[in-house]
Amino acid sequence: MLITDACLRGATRTAIRIDGERIAAVSPDLHPQRGEEVFDAAGAAVLPGLHDHHLHLLAYAAAIDSVCCGPPRVRDAGELADALVAHAAQAGEGWIRGVGYHESVAGDIDRAWLDRLVPGRPVRIQHRSGQLWIFNSAGLRRLGVAEAAHADDPFERRDGGPTGRLYGADGWLRARLGGAMPGLREASLRLARLGITGITDAGPDNALAEFRHFARERDRGHLLQDVLMMGSSALDPSWNRAGLTVGATKIHLRESALPDFDAMCTRIARSHEAGRPVAVHCVTLAELMFALGALQAAGLRSGDRLEHVSLASPEAVAMVRDAGVHVVTQPHFLYERGDAYLAALSPREIADLYRARSFVAAGVPLGAGSDAPYGDPDPWRALDAALRRTSRAGHVLGAGEALDPAAALRLFGSHPLRPGGACRPLAAGAVADLCVLDRAWDSVFEDPASVRVRLTMGGGRVLHAA
Ligand SMILES: [Zn+2]
Repeated sequence: MLITDACLRGATRTAIRIDGERIAAVSPDLHPQRGEEVFDAAGAAVLPGLHDHHLHLLAYAAAIDSVCCGPPRVRDAGELADALVAHAAQAGEGWIRGVGYHESVAGDIDRAWLDRLVPGRPVRIQHRSGQLWIFNSAGLRRLGVAEAAHADDPFERRDGGPTGRLYGADGWLRARLGGAMPGLREASLRLARLGITGITDAGPDNALAEFRHFARERDRGHLLQDVLMMGSSALDPSWNRAGLTVGATKIHLRESALPDFDAMCTRIARSHEAGRPVAVHCVTLAELMFALGALQAAGLRSGDRLEHVSLASPEAVAMVRDAGVHVVTQPHFLYERGDAYLAALSPREIADLYRARSFVAAGVPLGAGSDAPYGDPDPWRALDAALRRTSRAGHVLGAGEALDPAAALRLFGSHPLRPGGACRPLAAGAVADLCVLDRAWDSVFEDPASVRVRLTMGGGRVLHAA
């Protein structure tokens, strides 16, 4: 294929020839050969295929068929009740699966709350953090959870009985549900339409079953993106195959239940010995300090990364720089959740929220991931938020932390193993991962959220053509 009249960033118009999975040539002097397919970019911006550095693909695929239970679509208890009852009224006996719940909707809901609305069908609702599921009684029965506490049952209990609330037990839940993992075709197509040619899956429990499922979905042509799979210590880099490779060991921290410090250090060291970096989820300042302390004690490996880093003081930014790790952020949370943050956090915390420019200025490589389905998968929305830091209601959060366009492009343009590093080049010999936008570079940064992708190519194949 020959892409004509293409505009690479900072360059004049050119043409790009793709042969097999690679870019064969980039030059204004290329002309169509006989039988060659031609795509006229019409002067529009062409950039490397985007890589989402933090996404939960199985949960995203499942969310596409789920009831939305949180803001902005569902804002209060009445709207949540309407959504669940309407879904339950549809034919079927199976699970009703809700996603995106937040306590601003109806507080700390539990099994009894759900039973009043949907007594007959099993219901489970996921908190938008991904860390909590809430079940009704029919759901608990379907799972085989007894009223009395049992050793193999991680449910929260009060007065002896389960409240229906289950924290951080996705692996246990998946084993109990025993069901097939969701197909990835629709999720993958939606990502391709956004220009995404690669993803880093951030599921902390990923193991052999998930790896096999992803491999099958790629073989069937349902999973179009290249995947770097983070996950549990069970993942083995010797499984690596074309388009699906094992990444960091994902370590999840929760401030209220931090692991033993020495055990954490051992876990990091073991991962490094197995040839894998670590990716530590840290949202609060205490989690960040714990992670940095453990990384310092255990020693660093190239590719080690911190996920989210939602709050970071100036001192913490300097410590992250000294540690030499990558940070993978979610600027779009400022847009999606900014108004709630403004209501709930102190000015000091707002200043520390999703810092970006401070990290870049300190020399910390800053990549981004959507955290979908817990965040909007649209990287153009995230780019917009990285440049403007505007909430849905139009309030600006930490204007001084806004990124310039070059740093914003590195968020999703960087190599999967080096989030926030240099943008992957579009040059002869490179793998043909690219996207063609609907506008010229001049206007890309005026309103990134409205950008549409006309053509997405991954490994020389057309993944999406508008
Ligand atoms: Zn995540």
